[in-house]
Amino acid sequence: MSISFDLTGKTAVVTGANTGLGQGIAVALARAGASIIAVGRSAMDETERLCQGMGASVHSVQADLSSLEPIEHIMAESAKVGERVDILVNNAGIIRRADSIEFTEKEWDDVMNVNLKSTFFLSQAVAKRMLEDGAGGKIINIASLLSFQGGIRIPSYTASKSGLAGLTRLLACEWAAKGINVNAIAPGYFVTNNTEALRDDPKRSSEILGRIPAGRWGDPTDIGGAAVFLASSAADYIHGVVLPVDGGWLAR
Ligand code: NAD
Repeated sequence: MSISFDLTGKTAVVTGANTGLGQGIAVALARAGASIIAVGRSAMDETERLCQGMGASVHSVQADLSSLEPIEHIMAESAKVGERVDILVNNAGIIRRADSIEFTEKEWDDVMNVNLKSTFFLSQAVAKRMLEDGAGGKIINIASLLSFQGGIRIPSYTASKSGLAGLTRLLACEWAAKGINVNAIAPGYFVTNNTEALRDDPKRSSEILGRIPAGRWGDPTDIGGAAVFLASSAADYIHGVVLPVDGGWLAR
């Protein structure tokens, strides 16, 4: 049997695809042959241009995933494109930084709503579709090193990403036999908006860099290979893993 990473003929929904890791993932899936449905709060011009440059078709959907409201709209828009959704990448995520002693309910809820609640209910909506025709699919959650570690000053983020690792395993257990692979990628420290505050703090920045065996922060182009792998038939028997892409951080 040949091993294939080819995604030709597949359609992938990627949330938060306008920038950072979501953009890196959308472009990598497009390069592997997938059509892209790019979901996000803001304009997708750059992502559209990059994916089209790979010869992929791209359909953008405006949606604010801080509530469940847009999920129906996302499903309707993806049905309009006419293809079934074969791959869902739950990438949209936010972080709020403050000492736990001062952390507010809003900082808690804002992060939980995007990182965990919307992720679960979008996965549920997409899985219902994937189950309708029995052809299954792939769901990839973007977790974090904070799915394994505690961190500091990011209580809702750590709770959400640790929760997302658990949710990945639970959904894998429920849906594996139905042909849906649910897995996660745990990025290490990448140069994106998410880590701007860390990179702007010279002490934290050099502490972090000093602990990364690869000797550099990740670039959004470093994440796509893992996403293509988990989205492809090469990963058909992989369920419930949280795959670190971290320059060796967790090996330290
Ligand atoms: P980013 O801030 O550049 O991107 C976050 C994306 O999520 C953006 O596209 C943003 O528009 C989208 N988003 C945020 N809130 C949204 C909402 N309410 N509705 C719709 N979209 C929304 O940061 P990033 O690093 O590219 O983050 C992508 C994912 O990777 C996040 O889940 C983040 O937690 C995770 N992650 C990042 C790192 C890192 O080092 N950069 C490490 C571990 C995990």
